[in-house]
Amino acid sequence: MIEATCSRRDAASLIFDLPGYHVIDAVDLPCGGRRVKVSADVLEDGCPGCGVVSSRVHSWTQQRVKDITVGRDRPVVVVHKPRVVCAEAACGRKTFAQRTDQLPFRARCLTRLREAAAEAVIASGRAVDEVGDALGLAWWTVQDAVNAAAVVLPAVDDLRVHHLGIDEHRYRRVRFFRDPQTGSWTRVEPWMTTFVNVACGQVLGVVDGRDTAAVAAWLTARDPAWRARVQVVAIDPSTTFRKAITTALPQARISVDPFHLIQLANLMVTRVRQRLAQANHGRRGTTADPAWAHRLLLLRGYDTLTERARARLQATFKADDPTHELSAAWGVKEQLRRLLASPNATAAEAERNRLGCFVIAADMPETWRLWHTVNIWWPQILTLIATGVTNARTEAANTSVKQIKRTGRGYRNPEHYRARILLRSARRSRRRQRFTQQGTTLNCE
Ligand SMILES: [Zn+2]
Repeated sequence: MIEATCSRRDAASLIFDLPGYHVIDAVDLPCGGRRVKVSADVLEDGCPGCGVVSSRVHSWTQQRVKDITVGRDRPVVVVHKPRVVCAEAACGRKTFAQRTDQLPFRARCLTRLREAAAEAVIASGRAVDEVGDALGLAWWTVQDAVNAAAVVLPAVDDLRVHHLGIDEHRYRRVRFFRDPQTGSWTRVEPWMTTFVNVACGQVLGVVDGRDTAAVAAWLTARDPAWRARVQVVAIDPSTTFRKAITTALPQARISVDPFHLIQLANLMVTRVRQRLAQANHGRRGTTADPAWAHRLLLLRGYDTLTERARARLQATFKADDPTHELSAAWGVKEQLRRLLASPNATAAEAERNRLGCFVIAADMPETWRLWHTVNIWWPQILTLIATGVTNARTEAANTSVKQIKRTGRGYRNPEHYRARILLRSARRSRRRQRFTQQGTTLNCE
């Protein structure tokens, strides 16, 4: 049977499948392995000096290059490469070596190998060192391929962002540096701030530091049209971030993350429990104290508890809360949870008044402090309730950032770290976008 085909390549070139090249020879080596000799399909090339295209061969050279695994192992690839005579008589460069997409100027490994290396690091999240070992490349060659991929990422100003998330993370341990002149030690906290598109979780930028100046500098460096499009910015309860946003994005509304507010309420309950343990027993809590034994139960949302767990909670308050202070603190925490779950601003105001009554009744320094925080952040809480924009995707992005850090066992060069974060996040959000376009409603706009 004769099968219709569009291919005009010979069998060896088809199997080796190197774009723009054909196989001219292939042999089994005496000590194992194979050697494949290839040559470019098109002879002519433009002179790098004058740009004039020429196909007059001056001489032929053989160059050994690195390639991906073809079949069971990586063959020895030898490129039969012409040195071309420049067709322009006035050009100072008399001859030049042929360059192709797969073998650019001075390259010693094929482009498809560099692409495979960058793909392994970016898409699979593997360490540069490990990928270099697996593909027979130097660490720098793999890192160079990753850096080159970062250069072609779309500019932040071209991305349409309506809801922005800002969060911080520490990218390595605290270090101390000694001033050689004065001999004094300076503590350096290597923090970085990440900017995330809340709609799709893509990391837009990473800057050194977590202060107002660093955040405001990144925001003001953006295009005015980009800044005008940002409607809501989600942050943790951080006054430095709030100040930066009010300076650089005056028209944007700020939404505070509910997770961190509930975390503050949980911290308040824990502090009250610890103070009461000291006051009632004169020591830290132990397994003998029901409040200590059920310390995690105290922090869980009442609406998520089973009947048995609710009964255990009641028994704890009965057994280990003679002054009713612990139950009062717990009540304030639960009321804050109800407030944050309000469907609209009117309901939130009513819940806030109720929270005020709870705080007055509890009358403890810890609960007053929480009430003060809620009041300071009240406009941002109302934005949260009205828009529902949280920092959840920013936190998720930070989790994958930490995975990158752990895979690389830490980073010394912040530029390499930044490139890895941006590339991996762009790849993941593109993949997520593909899934969401198939089924659900989320749009990365
Ligand atoms: Zn020339």
